[in-house]
Amino acid sequence: MKINIIGGGPAGLYFAILMKKLAPEHVITVWERNGPDDTFGWGVVFSGRTLSNLREADADSHADITRDFEAWDNVDVVHRDSKISIHGNSFSGISRLRLLKILQRRCEQLAVRVNFRSEVKDLPSLATDCDLLVGADGVNSTVREDYKTHFQPSLSVRPNKYIWYGTRQLFHGLTLTFRENSAGVFAAHSYKFNQTTSTFIIECDPQTWDAAGFATMSDEATKAYLEKVFERDLNGSELLSNNSKWVNFLLVKNSRWSVGNLVLLGDALHTAHFSIGSGTKLALEDAIALRDCFVEMESVQAALNEFEDRRKPVIENYQAAAQDSMTWFENAREYMHMDPLTLAYRLMTRSGKVDHEELRKRDPKFVAAWEKAGAEGRKQ
Ligand SMILES: Cc1cc2nc3c(=O)[nH]c(=O)nc-3n(C[C@H](O)[C@H](O)[C@H](O)COP(=O)(O)OP(=O)(O)OC[C@H]3O[C@@H](n4cnc5c(N)ncnc54)[C@H](O)[C@@H]3O)c2cc1C
Repeated sequence: MKINIIGGGPAGLYFAILMKKLAPEHVITVWERNGPDDTFGWGVVFSGRTLSNLREADADSHADITRDFEAWDNVDVVHRDSKISIHGNSFSGISRLRLLKILQRRCEQLAVRVNFRSEVKDLPSLATDCDLLVGADGVNSTVREDYKTHFQPSLSVRPNKYIWYGTRQLFHGLTLTFRENSAGVFAAHSYKFNQTTSTFIIECDPQTWDAAGFATMSDEATKAYLEKVFERDLNGSELLSNNSKWVNFLLVKNSRWSVGNLVLLGDALHTAHFSIGSGTKLALEDAIALRDCFVEMESVQAALNEFEDRRKPVIENYQAAAQDSMTWFENAREYMHMDPLTLAYRLMTRSGKVDHEELRKRDPKFVAAWEKAGAEGRKQ
């Protein structure tokens, strides 16, 4: 089979690897507009379960990924200078660039051709020149845009603003920090992803953003402002910018997932709010799911139909959980009156995926402390 893939992010590269492993005679080409070392952002997180899926799909890249990653089992919630740790939440972090390098090397080993610095502009000719065309070109996918009458995407620009920094301050665990100032409420999502660096994503609602005056602030002044907001958490370390800019989260859904021999994959197909840390996981698992459909089905058309039938309910499930989580952060100012323990409890149970009993299984001590505080509160 001849396969053309647009986008050398996690979804495109991983799908190329899996299909080449399935049949070395497949001729697979990835077009990537950036160079091999260009990337945006810092680290990404995976849940424990994702890693076992990756091991089954490709033991070689799994071994490299797990050799480099940072693993933890705690979510830390910081509010009013108190840190509440909730254990039993297995996560690991890796730098996005490192992940891409591992996948790029694996493509090279398997003789997948990756054309870097090649922006695809002529989609129709690429589609006719292959058996399967994959649009793995990310959240702002031009493939999706060009075929929007067919895919029928729903694109929702969310109200909150976020900005993605790094820092040398190490956060051991997924740390959710809330800070208030005269402008409003800021939330930071941070985690260590290698020995020296943490991701530090800052999110705020539009009222806070307007009141702080970010619209007219330079990048340098924005960074300095946010360093001041999170002064106690950064402990003297600066925020590291990678041309970091404020953006609004874009929630992507598509009514239809393929047209002819063209299919969307990863962020081009769907997004889930970063607070549940699953964008890269879903991109890689999309690649596994699509590969599985090619194993089981006789034709490209049947495989693409099966992919949509099988994978859509899984994605809808994640998007529903992510929606609850995203809405929680959009309304964070409403929760700031809560004491740290209650805020941590509400945060952990925000998505409906983790209820009281599930939380008790994960961290009985935390739930016991919350129940005790509740009982004492009722006595007063
Ligand atoms: C602030 C923030 C934090 C996040 N944190 C996490 C996290 O902690 N954990 C997690 O798992 N995920 C996280 N994500 C999500 C994660 O970055 C994405 O979900 C993931 O990268 C999706 O992979 P992808 O391959 O679909 O798309 P991308 O990684 O976006 O890759 C698409 C590629 O296509 C290329 N491309 C686009 N158009 C063209 C074209 N016309 N021609 C050639 N190439 C093209 C791009 O250069 C890019 O390399 C976060 C996202 C954001 C915004």
